[in-house]
Amino acid sequence: MRLSLLALLLLSPLAHAQSLSRLREHLDRVPAIDTHDHLWPFEKLPAMVETERGRGVNLSGLWHNSYYMWTNPLTEWKRGMKFVDWWAVAKHDFADARATSFYRYQLSAFTDLYGVDFDTITDEQAAKLDEKIFRNYLDQRWLYEVVTKRANIELMFNDPYWGRYDFGPEYPFAVRVLNVTPLVRGFHRSEFPQQSDDPYHFAKQQNLKLESLDDYLIVLDRLFAVGKEKGCVCLKTTLAYQRTLDFARVAKERAAAHFGKPKSQLAPEQIKEFEDFIMWRLVELSAKHGLPFQIHTGQARIQGSNPMLLVDLIEANPRTKFVLFHGGYPWVGESAVIAMRHKHVWLDSCWLPTLSFSAAKRAYHEWLDAVPSNKILWGADCNHAEGIYGATMFTRRCLAEVLAERVDRGDLTEAHAKRIGEQILRDNALALFPSLKERLWKGQRELKAPK
Ligand SMILES: [Zn+2]
Repeated sequence: MRLSLLALLLLSPLAHAQSLSRLREHLDRVPAIDTHDHLWPFEKLPAMVETERGRGVNLSGLWHNSYYMWTNPLTEWKRGMKFVDWWAVAKHDFADARATSFYRYQLSAFTDLYGVDFDTITDEQAAKLDEKIFRNYLDQRWLYEVVTKRANIELMFNDPYWGRYDFGPEYPFAVRVLNVTPLVRGFHRSEFPQQSDDPYHFAKQQNLKLESLDDYLIVLDRLFAVGKEKGCVCLKTTLAYQRTLDFARVAKERAAAHFGKPKSQLAPEQIKEFEDFIMWRLVELSAKHGLPFQIHTGQARIQGSNPMLLVDLIEANPRTKFVLFHGGYPWVGESAVIAMRHKHVWLDSCWLPTLSFSAAKRAYHEWLDAVPSNKILWGADCNHAEGIYGATMFTRRCLAEVLAERVDRGDLTEAHAKRIGEQILRDNALALFPSLKERLWKGQRELKAPK
């Protein structure tokens, strides 16, 4: 007895390492469906800067256009400066960031794609890394290579906040998302300085008049129909960055009274009433057009981004499929209970491991306890190849660790753990967005990248 206990103690770390590495390998092979990214058109990538070699992406561009910047300092890149001059100062900026997920999520891109350990990088390695990055981005096939082959993503949802209603050309592996964030401000055309986000411009293109709230609701309906025709598979809103997620049920007459007035003639409560009314209509149109609604919850404006604020809206609209983004971080348990109580709610862990690897592990554990495994999704939520790669591998690792822990403690067979991993990385998105099945391409054809 004593001997077998000892044997168990000696063997268990080894057994854990083995089930973890088997699960990790299995999950890495799953062609993922990534439900959320912001990959700009190649020539407009925000990571492009003026370098001593000309315009392109460099190491500074990759860090400056990552979540690292949200909490950590980084020396500014000045147009055309020399890399060595930037690095001489910038290399000291990372000292206090080493443990943060906003720093660590991107590291696997440097080790796996460039063979460099950023934690211990030397000046010489940094200069070589910078040069390699620049060279890779001379050709947009680099994006295709990293996203579809190295990160093994088959389809990637792309939220085009740089031009929401343009429906311009996209990457062949990208899936269109209809970003509805600005639409709640449709009470006056002055709310839309950017033409590509302007429902008034869209109405004109469609020969629709837009002079009343009733007209506006018809325009929204048309926008949804056109979006769907152009391949959009869902709606997305990031209103949590601008206001509370508490959307009251407002009578139509009240909203109609505010229509046609510029912001300067409306009180903040009147603007909120209009926005609330439109949000409820968007939720109804989501059901009508069969476009699930991705809603940013958690980490934004902290006051007002708790997903619990959405419960009345969710409860009153059982035909709408709600997708709670980012696990509602830090309210991952709140997200779980909402999905537990409402079958028309899905939990999307996009961005969550990047926010906090530990919170993501806790979330996956709690969610697997509380909701069926077909309700959980993931997404990388980045804007360049290295970020997407890093966030994807960070998620695969996080998920593998959670599943291996459950296998080791005897709460899941390895076969079931593998299936759950496949569901979260791929199958659940295909079930929630069935039109994606027609867009699958791996094993059938190659995607051609323009040269
Ligand atoms: Zn995002």
